[in-house]
Amino acid sequence: MSMKVFIGIGANLGDARATVGKAIGTLAQLPDTKLVAQSALFGSAPIDSSGDDYVNAVAELSTSLSATDLLQQLQAIELAHGRERPYRNAPRTLDLDLLLYGDEEINTADLQVPHPRMTERAFVLLPLLQLVADLHIPGKGRAQDYVAAVAEQRIHELTPT
Ligand code: ADP
Ligand code: MG
Repeated sequence: MSMKVFIGIGANLGDARATVGKAIGTLAQLPDTKLVAQSALFGSAPIDSSGDDYVNAVAELSTSLSATDLLQQLQAIELAHGRERPYRNAPRTLDLDLLLYGDEEINTADLQVPHPRMTERAFVLLPLLQLVADLHIPGKGRAQDYVAAVAEQRIHELTPT
């Protein structure tokens, strides 16, 4: 069965814009998976992290991979992009988060879905809402209702090159 899933993408080392673009291309080629839509690219100030501004986007996929298999694939893509983790919340070449997996709520040691911090982050909410204006987050309610609380976070849509 195909599931509608949303992936949060972030990068802030090297050519972050190019990295995000390549990551979306790689997601589109995952087995048993189709790329349905992608948000614009956004630039955002680091939160709980350091370094340059992040480049962020959200991709919508349709996949028959299980949530666990999808997480493994995401981690393999992160590794392929040379992600290193010298310390917690260090700047990273590429961060891929499984935001939503259909309307499922998953709480295992390795995987929490919906992503537990997604409603606190403008760089997730704004691109997501671009794709689905009336998005409902399982266990949390309307995505739009969380936007006011993140209004102070610095973020802007990047102009296409
Ligand atoms: P964050 O993305 O929250 O800033 P990290 O990417 O460093 O932090 O966290 C990676 C860890 O988070 C992985 O070990 C993974 O098992 C765990 N994790 C739990 N839920 C998710 C999820 N929904 N998407 C991605 N990773 C997740
Ligand atoms: Mg992550």
